[in-house]
Amino acid sequence: MEKSLSRRVILFPVPLQGCMNPMIQLGKMLHSRGFSITVIHTRFNAPRASSHPLFTFLQIPDGLSETEKRLHDVNLMLTLLNKRCESPFRDTLTKLLQSETEEAKQRISCLIDDSQWVFTQPLAKSLNLPRLVLNATKVSFFRGHFVLPQLRRERFLPLQDSEQDDPVPEFPPQRKKDIFRLLDEETEILDAYLNQIYEATKASSGLIFVSSCEELDQESLIQARQDFQIPIFAIGPSHTHFPASSSSLLTPDETCMPWLDKQEDKSVIYVSLGSLVTISEAEMLEIAWGLRNSDQPFLWVVRAGSVNGTKWIESIPEEVMERLKEKGKIVKWAPQPDVLKHRAIGGYLTHNGWNSTVESVCEGVPMICLPFFWDQMLNARFVSEIWMVGLHLENRIERNEIEKAIRRLFSETEGGEIRERMKLLKEKVGRSVQENGSAYRSLENLVDYITSF
Ligand code: UDP
Repeated sequence: MEKSLSRRVILFPVPLQGCMNPMIQLGKMLHSRGFSITVIHTRFNAPRASSHPLFTFLQIPDGLSETEKRLHDVNLMLTLLNKRCESPFRDTLTKLLQSETEEAKQRISCLIDDSQWVFTQPLAKSLNLPRLVLNATKVSFFRGHFVLPQLRRERFLPLQDSEQDDPVPEFPPQRKKDIFRLLDEETEILDAYLNQIYEATKASSGLIFVSSCEELDQESLIQARQDFQIPIFAIGPSHTHFPASSSSLLTPDETCMPWLDKQEDKSVIYVSLGSLVTISEAEMLEIAWGLRNSDQPFLWVVRAGSVNGTKWIESIPEEVMERLKEKGKIVKWAPQPDVLKHRAIGGYLTHNGWNSTVESVCEGVPMICLPFFWDQMLNARFVSEIWMVGLHLENRIERNEIEKAIRRLFSETEGGEIRERMKLLKEKVGRSVQENGSAYRSLENLVDYITSF
């Protein structure tokens, strides 16, 4: 029997799609190594317990009102969740620890929760329970984003036109205009919250980067190890171990797949802006015309409620809808990992959420970058300027720009070169999760580390 068989790990995910998937994936990886898994989760955006019959799920109240659940400011929502969940989480965790016999109590090895929970560190310490922190962004973003309060204080606002493209040495490879968008949207609350995240991470027993590996983040990993002085694990693209769709909070429209089957190899542009981005009606129409005018077949995810002021796509005029249907399919939510794997997909117009970016890299799908907030701007710079496996729209949500980018990617020599570089990056990252690859070894080390508690 493996040493880990008698041990239990408690997971506490943040209730957002981009954070839920990696936490559940980590749970599956640890379960496959013999650990029992208990997931404590909020009522808001609760994971579907029936999809994971091997885990134990415990729900806690989160106290969010209906309005708060629709907050666009994710950091504000997270600070509220941190306040409201503290007491119910403490009660649940304490009960869990006490309910065990003295011998069985040893079996709860540790708590693994998201870096965005900050009250859990002092709580775990008081209960004498090791806490590991999971982070689902790129290591360079996690490391760099603690500099935001300093940048805000020092010199960033207002930004002159001539400075827009200047580099930001404190937070590479972003440009000043990227940072401006970050600082513009945030408030003083964020500065205090970031400081709490930093302290709670530094005091933890270790940091796990799911969806990152040496191949994608080598330099930042070296620096992060110096900054935090705790064990750091980069266990690689988590969705390559188990299908991510089982932790989807929305129901994927499976009709995408037979539709894709009918398309030619590498002919379809997939379009999705993730689970949080919202756009205006005018922007939706620009995207619609850009896609149609490119003449390339498209699969477009428009989340219900993601176009401000409308329920879905009802504001697209009927005659425009007719033209769109000639070439494309629009769905509310797609089985994205399967879609990106499909032979018909030739490009991905993306918001560059980190999960989506990594999923695209792992399937070798070149990108057109349209980032909106938070880590998306940094990820887009890596894709377009460091790895050079995509084109950047530079926030121009205009039909001509979108059409031009799709044509460049699908029809021109430049597109072929991008595709070639993407193929090499895919192979490199793919090797990291294979036996003795960097991510594979990191996961082994993590399992040994948890077993040692
Ligand atoms: N996703 C999906 N279907 C969709 C759109 C997205 O399953 O139609 C998944 C996608 O595969 C990814 C996650 O939702 O794993 C989005 O996470 P990401 O970090 O890319 O962006 P966020 O939603 O956090 O902005």
